[in-house]
Amino acid sequence: MLQLKNITKDYVTSSETVHALRGIDISFRDHEFVSVLGPSGCGKTTLLNIIGGLDHYTSGDLVINSKSTRLYRDRDWDVYRNHRVGFIFQSYNLIPHQTVLGNVELALTIAGIDKKERIERAKRALDRVGLEDQYYKKPNQLSGGQCQRVAIARALVNDPEILLADEPTGALDTVTSVQIMNLIREIAGERLVIMVTHNPDLAREYSTRIVSLRDGEVVEDTMPVTDEEILEYERSEVVECEAEPKKKTKESAKMSPLTALKLSARNLISKKARTTMVGIAGSIGIIGIAMVLAFSAGIKGFVDYMQDDMLSGNPITIKESTYDLNALTGMMNDDRREEIIKNPNRVYISSLIEYITKMDSQMQSLAIENNLTKEYIDYVKAMPNEYYDAIIYDYGFNLNHNLYTDFKLNSESEARKYSISMITAMYTSILKDTSFSSYAQYISALAPSFSQLPSDGDYDYIYSQYDLVGEGSRMPTEAGEIMLVLDSNEELSDLLLARYGFFTQEEFLEIIDKASNTNYEPEKYRESFAYDELIGKTMIWYPNDTVFTENTGADGMAAQAYKYNHEAKDFSTDGAIELRVVGILMPKTSVSFGSMKSGIYYTADLAEYVLAANAESKIFDYINGISETINSAMAIASYYINYTYEYVPYGDDVTPKKASANIGPATSMTDMMSSMMGSSQTAFDHAETKANFIRTLGGNSLPNAVTIYPVSFADKDSVTEYLEDWNRTEGNEDVTFDDTLELVINLINNMIDIISYALIAFTSISLVVSTVMIGIITYVSVVERIKEIGVIRSLGGRKRDVSNLFVAETLIIGLLAGTIGVVFTYVVSIVVNLILKPLIGYASIASLPAGQAVLLVALSVVLTLISGVMPARSAARKDPVVALRTE
Ligand code: ADP
Ligand code: MG
Repeated sequence: MLQLKNITKDYVTSSETVHALRGIDISFRDHEFVSVLGPSGCGKTTLLNIIGGLDHYTSGDLVINSKSTRLYRDRDWDVYRNHRVGFIFQSYNLIPHQTVLGNVELALTIAGIDKKERIERAKRALDRVGLEDQYYKKPNQLSGGQCQRVAIARALVNDPEILLADEPTGALDTVTSVQIMNLIREIAGERLVIMVTHNPDLAREYSTRIVSLRDGEVVEDTMPVTDEEILEYERSEVVECEAEPKKKTKESAKMSPLTALKLSARNLISKKARTTMVGIAGSIGIIGIAMVLAFSAGIKGFVDYMQDDMLSGNPITIKESTYDLNALTGMMNDDRREEIIKNPNRVYISSLIEYITKMDSQMQSLAIENNLTKEYIDYVKAMPNEYYDAIIYDYGFNLNHNLYTDFKLNSESEARKYSISMITAMYTSILKDTSFSSYAQYISALAPSFSQLPSDGDYDYIYSQYDLVGEGSRMPTEAGEIMLVLDSNEELSDLLLARYGFFTQEEFLEIIDKASNTNYEPEKYRESFAYDELIGKTMIWYPNDTVFTENTGADGMAAQAYKYNHEAKDFSTDGAIELRVVGILMPKTSVSFGSMKSGIYYTADLAEYVLAANAESKIFDYINGISETINSAMAIASYYINYTYEYVPYGDDVTPKKASANIGPATSMTDMMSSMMGSSQTAFDHAETKANFIRTLGGNSLPNAVTIYPVSFADKDSVTEYLEDWNRTEGNEDVTFDDTLELVINLINNMIDIISYALIAFTSISLVVSTVMIGIITYVSVVERIKEIGVIRSLGGRKRDVSNLFVAETLIIGLLAGTIGVVFTYVVSIVVNLILKPLIGYASIASLPAGQAVLLVALSVVLTLISGVMPARSAARKDPVVALRTE
C-alpha cells in the first residue's frame, strides 16, 4: 500500500514560488491500474516523480508499506527506485549508444547483478513485450512503439511493485497506443500501475480507477481507498510479519566501477571520430614530453656508446705543467664583480686594470706544476697492464732538428739532404713572400708531425681502429721503422708531406699557386701519391754531436759557440739511424675518434735509441754553461742557436734568397700564458730554460708527459683510481692528471639535462592546454549525456555511479591520449633511428625508456582525471527530474 499524506511540492525559482502540488491525500492499492487525468501543468508529472522517489516532496509524507519516508536519505531513495519502481516516459528515454538489450540490462547493471543473470532476465523482459528478435538493435533503428516496448521492458526487468508511466502513448499513433495500452494492462494485473494521461478515453477503457488533478489538488477519484481497506491492510501486515517474518535480503543498488568503465567505453566507441580526435589532441603534450625524454635518453645512450670510441681520442694525460680545468670552469662562472649603487647622473669607470690583475692571479692559481719524479714514473710503469692498451712516455724532444730527408727543387734537380726543421723554416720563408704571409708563422704549429705510436709493441689496439693499406704495408717492429697514419678522409696534409720532403719545392709552389690564384692552371700540381711512393721512403736521424758542431767562425757566425748543420754534408754515420716508412694506416670507417692524428709515427724503440744516442751530447755542456747574468728580456734569445739557409723564393724571380732561423728551448705553458696576459710576474728562470732546451734536444730520459690509453671506459676508472692512490699515499707529492673525457662527458650530460628540462617545461604548457581541453570536452559530454544521467538516476543509480561514469570516461581518454602519445613517440623514434643510423652509426638515438613511457601514460591519466573531476561532480549533482525534463 502506497499512501500520500498531505503532500505538497513547491518549486522555488528566483522569480516566484510555484506550488505544483497543494496537499495531496491519496492511497493506492497494491494491485490496481490508476489513470491520472488533468490539464497540462496541473502537477501530474510532479506527483508521479514524487511517488517514484525521483523528486522529493516539500511537506507531508509518503508512506510505503506502512513506512514513512520522511527520514529517507539519497541512498534509500536510490534503492527504492531500483527495486520497487519502474518508470515509463513519454519520450522513452532510451540511451542511444546502448543496444536494446543493453538499455534493458541497465537497471540490473545498476543493481550489481552479474552478467549472465542480467542477460537472461533482460531477454525475458524483452520477450514479454514482444521484442524477441530486436535484442541487438540500437534505439534509433526502432519505431516509436518498439522504443516504448523497450522502455516497458526496462521498467519491468527488476520486477517492481509499482509501474509509473508518464503519458506513455503521448508520442504514439492510435494503433500503436492501443497495443501499448494492452501491454500495460496485462502487466497491471500483477502490480500497481499509475499512468498519467491526457486522454480520458484511454483512461476509461483501460484503468480501474481514475484520479483527476487540477492545480495541484485531487479533484476527483473514482475509486478512493476506504478507511476499512486501510485498516484491513494494516492488520494483514501485522499478521504477515508475525506469521513468517520475511527474510528480507538486503536490497541494494550499486554499480561497480568496472561497469561504469564499460558504459563509458561504449559511449566513447559510439563516437569514434570524436574520441580519436580528443585522444590525439590530448596526446600532444605527452608526445612533446615523450619525445624530449626519448631524445634525452637516446643521446645519453649515444654518449655512453661513444665513450669507448672517444676514449682513444681522449686519453688520460699527466703533464709537468697543466691547468686545473675544473677550477677553470668554476672561475668562469664566478666572474661577478661587486655591484655598487649607481647614481643615475654619472658615468662610472670600470677598472680594467683590476680585472686584468685578478685574471692574471687567477690564471696563476690555476696553473699546476706536476713534479714527475722517477718514483712517480716508476709507479705509473708498475700499473697493472690489463687496465691500459698503451702508455706513451713523452720525453719532450724534437726529432725534427736531427732528422734529414732528401729535398729536391724539381724532379730533375739533384737531391740535397736537409733537416726537417730547416725545410719547415724554408717553406715558412716562402709563404711569407706570398699572400699567406700572415699565416706563415703557424706552419710548424699546424702541420702534423712526428709522434710516437700509442703502443707498447702489441698492436691489437691499433688494429681495432685502423687498417693497414698498401702492398707490403706492415707495422714497424724496430727503431728504424716508421709509418704514416691517414686521417678519416684517407688523406695526409700538404704541409706534412712538404716538411718531410715528399714534395719537390716546385710541387709545393704549385700548391701555393692553386690556393692563392683563382685563375690557376695546373702544370705540376700533385693531387695524390700511390701507396708505393710513400712506403719505402727513408730519412736519416743523426745524433746531436753530428748535427751541432763547434763554431769555427767560417760561416760568419762568430758570436755563437755552436752551429747547426742544417744540411747533411759529410756527416759521420756514427750513431745515425735510417728510418724507413714500412706501412700506412687508415682509420676504420666505424671509428669516429681514432687514437692517432694523421702524421708520421715512430716506435718506442726509436725514442729509447734517441735518448741513448744523445745522452752525452757535447752541446749540453755548452747549454749548461750559458751565462746566467744575462738579463731576462734578452734571456730566451741568448739560448737560441741561429743558422742561415738559402732558398728559392716563390714568384718569377728565382735568384736564391737568404734567411735565418733558430733552434732553442721550447717555451713552457706558463711562459706562454704569462706572455699572453702581458704579465711579468714570473721571474725568468735560467735553470728551467736550460732544462727545457736540453729536453728539446733529447737530453732527459725522464718523461715530462705521460699519455695513458685505457682499454675501456670501465678500465679508465681503474686507471684514475690507481693514479689517485699515489696522491693518497702519505709522503707522496700530488700529481694532477687530466681526464678530459670525464670532463667532456659530464659537460655533455649536464647540457642534455638542462636542455631536456627546458624543453619539458615548454612542452608542459601544451600538456596543461590539453588537460583543460579534456575538461571542457568532458563538460560537453556531461551536457550531451544529461538524459542518460536522468535515466540512470531514475533506475536507482547513485550520484556516485553517475560521477564514476564521467571519471571513467576521462580515465579512458587519459589512457588513450597517453597511449597514443607513447605509441606515436615509439613510431617516430623508429623512423628517426632508421634515418640516423647510417649517418651516426648508432641505432637508438631516440629511445624512450619503458619505465618513463608507463609514467607518462600514468601522468596523462592523472591529469585527465583531475580535469574530469569538476565535470563529473557537476554531473552527479544534476537533479534527475531536471535531467529527464531536458529535451
Ligand atoms: P504536468 O505534468 O501536469 O503538465 P508538471 O508536474 O510538469 O505538470 O508541472 C506542474 C507545475 O510545476 C507547472 O506549473 C510547472 O511549470 C511547474 N514546474 C515543474 N517542474 C518545475 C521546476 N523544476 N521548476 C519550477 N517549476 C516547475
Ligand atoms: Mg507532465
